[in-house]
Amino acid sequence: MKCSYCNHEIIRNLNFWELLVPQKMKEWELCHACRQKFTFQGQVSNCSGCQKPMTKPGLCGDCQFWRSFYPQLEFQQKSLFVYDAAFSEWLKEYKILGNYQLRHTFTKEVEGHLKKYRKENFLICPLPLSKKRYQERGFNQVSSFLTAAEIPITELLKRRETAPQSLKNRQERLAMPQPFKLKAAPEKIKGKKILLVDDVYTTGRTMYYAAVLLQSAGPQQILGFSLAR
Ligand SMILES: [Zn+2]
Ligand SMILES: [Zn+2]
Repeated sequence: MKCSYCNHEIIRNLNFWELLVPQKMKEWELCHACRQKFTFQGQVSNCSGCQKPMTKPGLCGDCQFWRSFYPQLEFQQKSLFVYDAAFSEWLKEYKILGNYQLRHTFTKEVEGHLKKYRKENFLICPLPLSKKRYQERGFNQVSSFLTAAEIPITELLKRRETAPQSLKNRQERLAMPQPFKLKAAPEKIKGKKILLVDDVYTTGRTMYYAAVLLQSAGPQQILGFSLAR
C-alpha cells in the first residue's frame, strides 16, 4: 500500500476488519508522516457554525453575519481540516498544479466523514466549476475527491463565468454576485436533504449563494462540507 500523498510505501499491521474481510482494505491512505502534517478539526476549538478555529466557543463573526443576512436559512458546515500552510500546499499541488492523483489523498477521511450523510439519504452536491474553469483545469477538484472516495454525487447547480475566487481579497469575495443557477428541476430538490461540498470554506460567500438558491426549491435541509476551513 502506498501513501495517498507522498507515495511512499506504507508498512503497518492490518486491523481486525482488514484481516477478516480483505476487501475492506483501502487502496489509498495517508502515511503517518503525512497525517501529522495536517491539523484535523477537533484538535483546536472552533466555531459551532462553520468550524473556523477560534480561541473561545460560540459562533464566529462570519456565521453571525450570515445568520442575520439570511435569517430564513438554517445552514452550517463542517470540515475535515484546519486551513493552514500544510493544507494550502496540498491544495496548490492538487488544484493549481493539477496533480490529479491527489484526488485520493483524503479518500479514507472523506468516506468516513460522509458515511452518516449517506445513511440519511442526503444528496451530495459538489459545487460546480464554470465551463471555462473546467476546461482550463481539466477536472472538478471537488467532484474528483468525492468520486475517488466512491461517493455518489448529484449535480444540482451550474456555475456562470466569474473571476477565480482564489485571486480575490476578502472584500472582493464578499461582493461577488450570485454565480450559480439551478441545473436540476426544482422537483428533484423539493423535500430532499442536501449536502453541499467544496474544497475550502473561506468567507462562506460561495456556499451561502448555493444554499440560498437551492432553498428556493424547498428542500428539507441543506448542510455543507469542505475539506478545510
Ligand atoms: Zn505520506
Ligand atoms: Zn463560523
